[in-house]
Amino acid sequence: MRYLIENGEVLIEGKFQRKNIVVDGEKITDIIENNPHDFNGKRIDAKGQLIIPGLIDMHAHLREPGYEYKEDLESGLKAALNGGITTVACMPNTRPSLDSPAAVHSLKEKAKVLSLARLEVIAAATKGREGRELTEMGTLAQAGAIGFSDDGDPIWDPHIMRRALEYASSFHLPVIDHCEERALSRDGSMREGYYSNYYGIYGIPDAAESVMVARDIDLANLTAGWVHIAHVSTGKSVNHIRHGKGKRGKISAEVCIHHLLFTDKDLEDYDPAKKLNPPFPTKEDQEMLLEALMDGTIDIIVTDHAPHANWEKEVEFQRAPFGIIGLETLLLQLFKLSRKKTLAFEKLLEKVTSAPAKLFNFAGRGRIERHYYADLVLFDPMDDTTLTNSYFRSKARNTPYLGKTLQGKITQVMCGGKLVQI
Ligand SMILES: [Zn+2]
Repeated sequence: MRYLIENGEVLIEGKFQRKNIVVDGEKITDIIENNPHDFNGKRIDAKGQLIIPGLIDMHAHLREPGYEYKEDLESGLKAALNGGITTVACMPNTRPSLDSPAAVHSLKEKAKVLSLARLEVIAAATKGREGRELTEMGTLAQAGAIGFSDDGDPIWDPHIMRRALEYASSFHLPVIDHCEERALSRDGSMREGYYSNYYGIYGIPDAAESVMVARDIDLANLTAGWVHIAHVSTGKSVNHIRHGKGKRGKISAEVCIHHLLFTDKDLEDYDPAKKLNPPFPTKEDQEMLLEALMDGTIDIIVTDHAPHANWEKEVEFQRAPFGIIGLETLLLQLFKLSRKKTLAFEKLLEKVTSAPAKLFNFAGRGRIERHYYADLVLFDPMDDTTLTNSYFRSKARNTPYLGKTLQGKITQVMCGGKLVQI
C-alpha cells in the first residue's frame, strides 16, 4: 500500500515543518515539499495535524504470562497503538517470569502473529527474579532480549548486581534496575515528608531510592557495565546520575510521565489510582526531574504502565497495589506537561522517540526520515480527548485520568506502513 500524507506539520530534526510524507510498504520512501497532482496510492490530508514518529515506551507491564486478568499481550499492544506507541518494551515480572530464552522467544513470536505494536522484551536478570542466580543472558540476548531487569523488585544483592553488569556488558546490553532499598521503603505508600504526615499515610523516604542509585552507579563505573536506572523519582538520585555519567560505565536513566505531572500533595483524595511506586515526588524534586530531563541527565520518558483489575484497586489507599496505566495517556500527558510547564513539546517528544531509539539501538525507528519505518502518529492539538471507559483498549482502568478530558487528540496511527484500526 502507498500513502501520501500531506499538509501536516511533521516533526523532523526536532522541529515541526510543513512537509508531505510518502509511504510505500512498511517504510517512508520520501519526504517532499510539493503536493503532486498524480499520486498512485491513498492520500491522507493531515491539515492542522502534527505528525510525530510512533512513540517508544521502554517500560511497560503487559502481565503475560500469568496475570492475564490484569492485561495480556493483545490488550497491551492494542492499548499501545491506541496511545500512539508503536514500540513497547515489556517487563519480565510475569508468572513464570521471563527468565528463559523459550519464554522470550514465544512472547516475541506471539506478538509477530498479532501484528499490532512492535514488542521488545526485557528479560529477567536473575532466575525467577529471586536475586540469587543470574539468568543465561547470552541465550536470552540471542532470543531477542534487549536488556535485563528484575523490575518490580530491586536487585538487592550488590554482588549479584556487579556480576549482572559484567555479564550483560559482554552483550552491550543494560541492566535495568528498580532502585528501592526495601529496608527503608518498608510498608510506605507515598513519599515521606510534610504531606505524608499531613495525610497520615506511611511514608517512603527519598533515600530508599537514592542509596541504591548511588550503589548501581558506582558498580557500573567499577565494571564498565551499562546500568539503566528505572523510574527515577528523587532529586538525590538525579544528583548521583549527573555526577556518575561520563566515567567508565554507561549510565542512562528514565523518568515515568506520572512523576512529572503529579506530586505528593495530589494524594489529598486518597485515590488508590494515584498510588505508585516509586511514589509521587515532592514539588522540589519534580522540578529537579524536569531540569534533569531537559539537560540530558535523564535520557527518556516511560509510562511504567502497570495494569491492575478494578477489584484490586477498589480498596483503601494503603492496601491497594502500586501502579498506574499509562500507554493510552502518554502522548496526551506529554502535551499537557508542555503546556503546564511551558516546555517545548518537540523536546519532550524526543524523549519518547529518537532518544530511546538511539539508546537501545532500534534501527529505522524514532524519527521521520527516508528509509525509516512508517511508524507515525497524527495528532490534533486543537481537539481534545475524553478518557471514557470505552476509550481504553487496556483491560485495566487504574488511572487518575478516567473520565477526565485532556487537550489534544490522536486521530490516526500508522505502524510499519499500516493504518491502525483497533
Ligand atoms: Zn519498577
